Amino acid sequence: MHINLLRNLLVCPACRSNLSTHANGLNCNHCLAVYQFVDGKVIFTTTPAKNEHNSLDQLKSKIKKFPTIYKFLSEVVAPVYVSKKRLKIFISEIDKNNLVGLNLGSGITNYSQKIINFDLQDFKNVEVIGDLFQLPFRDCTFDYIFNLYVLEHVPDPKLAVEEIHRVLKPGGIGYFLIPFIQGFHAAPNDYFRFTSKGVESYFQGFDIIKNRGLGPTSAMLWILQEWLAIVLSFNSQKLHLVMHTLIVCISFPLKYLDVILSKFFSVNNIASVNEVIARKSL
Ligand SMILES: [Zn+2]
Repeated sequence: MHINLLRNLLVCPACRSNLSTHANGLNCNHCLAVYQFVDGKVIFTTTPAKNEHNSLDQLKSKIKKFPTIYKFLSEVVAPVYVSKKRLKIFISEIDKNNLVGLNLGSGITNYSQKIINFDLQDFKNVEVIGDLFQLPFRDCTFDYIFNLYVLEHVPDPKLAVEEIHRVLKPGGIGYFLIPFIQGFHAAPNDYFRFTSKGVESYFQGFDIIKNRGLGPTSAMLWILQEWLAIVLSFNSQKLHLVMHTLIVCISFPLKYLDVILSKFFSVNNIASVNEVIARKSL
């Protein structure tokens, strides 16, 4: 998004007052906090992300510096299959109708010029670096918010959803992918898993349009890969990384069974992911 357009949507995350532009960044008109522009990004938090990695997570973190390779690995090889059909419909809706979107926890992704990329960490396409619990945006700003595979990584998911509710326009859509059965994956931390029933309690003030489990094979595959890596590592940390990588590379095509199986009625019992579409109540 162009910096001038983005600039109009921003407020001070600490006190939600207006910001004034200065040479290298923004000043809060009320609490006088100073925020920097660095390499075209607006930086609202300087808190370094604390990493709690196992060796595979460390490897993933290094590969994120090469977005094309990481995208291929996370979409094709990683043990999660979710159709992108719904995501693409929402993105084209934003582009066609000149709406404003926010990708919260965007990582390396970049869906559209009309969708702001926000993350706690400084990845290539991130435009605003900040804290999910204190979003630097005005109330009722966004038509769409994307929050994919993020809520498990924040220490207070309910508070995160409340902030999302605040910055969505009334009638605006939140699109969430929220893990249920997946192995531990720190990025940079990993705190929670959610059942389909459990996530509903997070969405106060929303009308839930869709809430369904996806990916029963993905769930089984992730656990199986982790289990085989434990057994075949013979308790050696180095061998574990080698075996795990090898097992993932050999077994990943199984996940594509979910193209069909995700449509079955009983998927919620062992879903890899809950797909939630929630509209902010009018
Ligand atoms: Zn302020």
